[in-house]
Amino acid sequence: MARIDCNHIRHAYGPHPKSDKDYALKEVHHAFEDGGAYALLGPSGCGKTTLLNIISGLLYPSHGELLFDGKDVTNLSTQERNIAQVFQFPVIYDTMTVYDNLAFPLRNRGVPEPDVDRKVRETLEMTGLADMAKKKARGLTADQKQKISLGRGLVRSDVNAILFDEPLTVIDPHMKWVLRSQLKQLHRRFGFTMVYVTHDQTEALTFAENVVVMYEGEIVQIGSPAELFERPKHTFVGYFIGSPGMNVMPVAVEGRNARLGSQTIELPGAPKAGTAGAIELGIRPEYVRLGASGMPVSIRKVEDIGRHKVVRASFEGRDIAAIVGEDEDIPADPKIAFDPAGINLYADSWRVEMGG
Ligand code: ADP
Ligand code: MG
Repeated sequence: MARIDCNHIRHAYGPHPKSDKDYALKEVHHAFEDGGAYALLGPSGCGKTTLLNIISGLLYPSHGELLFDGKDVTNLSTQERNIAQVFQFPVIYDTMTVYDNLAFPLRNRGVPEPDVDRKVRETLEMTGLADMAKKKARGLTADQKQKISLGRGLVRSDVNAILFDEPLTVIDPHMKWVLRSQLKQLHRRFGFTMVYVTHDQTEALTFAENVVVMYEGEIVQIGSPAELFERPKHTFVGYFIGSPGMNVMPVAVEGRNARLGSQTIELPGAPKAGTAGAIELGIRPEYVRLGASGMPVSIRKVEDIGRHKVVRASFEGRDIAAIVGEDEDIPADPKIAFDPAGINLYADSWRVEMGG
């Protein structure tokens, strides 16, 4: 197990990067604590795989260095870094049996055969492959093959870290849930440093206490699911996490008032820093109160999604979403009010602190 430091890591795939847009990773400067479980969350193309491959040593960064427990490993191979990595698609030996596929990483390291057997059997149970142990991998389905791949990543308990790159994409939804719970258990038992890449917020929020959100080649926020929900540091985190995402609207701020069209919204405090640039107010649908008093809206649509309803409305010519209880009535002349606890303010997409 190891602490992993990414020190000012930048990466460009092309030969002569000039500006930020030429970099798949603009700059990542972050530590993954020893024994921590992290979800790396972001949309397709934001640089998740690039970062993971730099950590494992499959990719050499254009700038910066990588430390394991304070030791520079930037020039070491994957083998020397002693990392297990599970990819999105199966990486297995087709001509070997399931058992031998799982045994391979252990035998390769010279682990004594009785220990190999014990670990392989344990891993077969965990991945639900026990009754296929003697089968050749070739004839198996895509999701069975992916379970072998996952098992190969989990079979060694002496690795510095285990990296997962969207490992459950081809697995069916129920099994996904089972495997994810097992990964969490395994983490509790062995205390591996784990980095789990996904573009799925539910997967990220249920896997880890530490969620690292990436957007366009950089980390925009690291936090617990609650922090990402309550205080998105970047408007992207507001949109990306939550269902529906945060309402974000341009405003003009004066003291502790925000003006939007003909409406004035009282902020929880005046912005602490200067508010230069494009100023926006963000409020999650959960904090938009719908009732008989407040600011007028016109309702376009009500989506009943079981435990609650999503109300889609037009507010000062802009779309806004509000979440109301299943049994709540929608007033005939609807008005909205913003719960001050849910108001966030952004300048050029980054969150601005407000004073009391
Ligand atoms: P993610 O895993 O988050 O989907 P990637 O790390 O795969 O994102 O990709 C980040 C960016 O780098 C994307 O714009 C992608 O097109 C580009 N990219 C990834 N791999 C290569 C490559 N081998 N050569 C050139 N560009 C690449
Ligand atoms: Mg990827």
